[in-house]
Amino acid sequence: MANIISGTELASVIKKDIKQETDRLSKCGVTPGLAVIIVGDDPASKIYVNNKKKACEAVGFYSEEIALPADTTQKDLLAVIDKLNKRFDIDGILVQLPLPSHLNEKAVIGAISPKKDVDCFSPFNVGRVMIGDYRFLPCTPAGVMELIKSTGIEISGKNCVVIGRSNIVGKPMAMMLLNESGTVTICHSKTENLAQVTSQADILVCAVGKANFVTADMVKEGAVVIDVGINRNEDGKLCGDVDFEAVAEKAGYITPVPGGVGPMTIAMLMKNTLTAAKLNASAAMKKTGKK
Ligand code: NAD
Repeated sequence: MANIISGTELASVIKKDIKQETDRLSKCGVTPGLAVIIVGDDPASKIYVNNKKKACEAVGFYSEEIALPADTTQKDLLAVIDKLNKRFDIDGILVQLPLPSHLNEKAVIGAISPKKDVDCFSPFNVGRVMIGDYRFLPCTPAGVMELIKSTGIEISGKNCVVIGRSNIVGKPMAMMLLNESGTVTICHSKTENLAQVTSQADILVCAVGKANFVTADMVKEGAVVIDVGINRNEDGKLCGDVDFEAVAEKAGYITPVPGGVGPMTIAMLMKNTLTAAKLNASAAMKKTGKK
């Protein structure tokens, strides 16, 4: 039976450290601030935004939710971002995705100052991850990396397989495993002989969005299996991409859903916001000549 990697526990340790550092910073007059923009009233997005707000409170950050109507124009949304870019009390700006279809997601993300892009979705920050010279890492893959590292298993030289090639999860995930010297294969909807590829993986990351997609025959004995997927099964229960019960019999380590990658994503968002606050504070000090 696999060891279960608890994202809930790991995230709580990380958030405790962040809280301690926030307390230290606030003594110097710096309180990290996160602005979350939500457009429309998608119920899932509302839950995600609320969870982020709660996490900010727990670690001592200032947070601000900017709820805009579903018919907000591109121009108005860009104007809101522009104002936030200029505010000194806001270190991180996040636009909850998906946006209503009349809005241009790429242009909206691109309008966030790279210094405040705590989701790390902007082309500039993605490029920095690509060359291994980054200030922020995209939250979900960064959380996955922490989960893998918590097992004590070295990534260097291992066969790492990522299923999924989205800009948010799959691609940056592959890049981050490569930055740690993993031998990385990316699989996607057109991959042939998927099970043959995945069953070679020492580390398998699944980000597909289909319940029970990864079955035991697709997994190598003793592998680290990280389940990024968030789905509902036929009973309406939250589940990942991995057939958990069967794969847990074969894997060495496995993350549950819920309680795996999800809490880590939020912890990494807090980490990025803290990093942004420290960078912004030191830039402001340089400007005023303070030490
Ligand atoms: P996406 O829909 O953008 O990408 C899914 C990927 O799966 C695609 O690249 C596609 O090529 C691949 N795919 C689809 N069918 C396949 C098949 N038959 N064989 C192999 N590959 C196949 O989704 P995403 O944004 O990358 O998210 C993936 C999952 O992760 C979703 O369930 C999403 O809800 C979840 N997610 C979780 C978190 C978290 O914090 N836990 C964060 C982001 C996304």
